[in-house]
Amino acid sequence: MKKEVYAGFDIGGTKILTVLADQQGQWLADHRCSTFADEGPEAILCQIKNALNQVLDKAGVDRDRLLKAGVCIAGYFDATHRLLVHSPNIPGWNHFPLEEKLSSWLDVPVWVENDANAAALGETYEGAAKGKTEVVYVTVSTGIGAGLICRGKIYRGSLGFAGEIGHMKVKPGGATCGCGGRGCLETVASGTAIARKARQAIESGQFIKGIGSAEALTTEDVFEAVQTGDKVAQTILREAIQYLGMGLANAVNLLNPQIIVVGGGVVKAGKALLEPLEKEIRKNAVPALAKDLVLKKAALGSASGVKGMIHLLRQGER
Ligand SMILES: [Zn+2]
Repeated sequence: MKKEVYAGFDIGGTKILTVLADQQGQWLADHRCSTFADEGPEAILCQIKNALNQVLDKAGVDRDRLLKAGVCIAGYFDATHRLLVHSPNIPGWNHFPLEEKLSSWLDVPVWVENDANAAALGETYEGAAKGKTEVVYVTVSTGIGAGLICRGKIYRGSLGFAGEIGHMKVKPGGATCGCGGRGCLETVASGTAIARKARQAIESGQFIKGIGSAEALTTEDVFEAVQTGDKVAQTILREAIQYLGMGLANAVNLLNPQIIVVGGGVVKAGKALLEPLEKEIRKNAVPALAKDLVLKKAALGSASGVKGMIHLLRQGER
């Protein structure tokens, strides 16, 4: 029997996840490899082609059964002109026609999507927000990204860049952000910001349980110190959560979602993050809008983006 398949790729700054799925969305094979981020666009296109061959081989599916491919990637994807305007993780891809190039390399139609948008869709159809149609998905790791689902579909805005919650201004006159603005949520509530605060605390002579040197310190070290009851680490996390709660309450007031799904590295902080975060959101949002709001941890982990892409391809419209 003829078996048609879709391929989904999540191109991260460090890893590429490739998945082959059937028309019902069932995974037939997957493949993970490190991203050759510094070797330019051609090297990554080559990696994608190789990864595709790997999953086709693993699943025992002929190349001509591939119907369509979907790629999600961190960065600004211009949905009108179909150009990857800029990717913070992968240098040299400015205004890169990723869809067109990849389509000619793979010889099938290719759809590209921002990774947070794809993850939001994945969580909506198969993860923490299953059954919901109005969803805010926020990922807090190195930076803060978000994907918005409106009436069950990705809300992209006029050009495709909607959802930049990480660049909401929450601290007037605050630190300069990678986007060029000041006082962005990302500068005070991302994993990077938490680690930076801890580093500054140690450098100013404070002590954090379990952390020896400021240089090698990671966000996870801070979370571990929080678990052991360290007061300095708890204060740092609490401040980050206050800002994150403020930013998400602004999103609630603007969009009135049914659910906020939190993904990314900071969910490793577990209850120490989610419970106070929910309180902060409820404290700052207009009560009527927050009344039935649900806050959940993302359920699909690193697979949320590819799951979203496979869903988009199966749906046949974007
Ligand atoms: Zn910014």
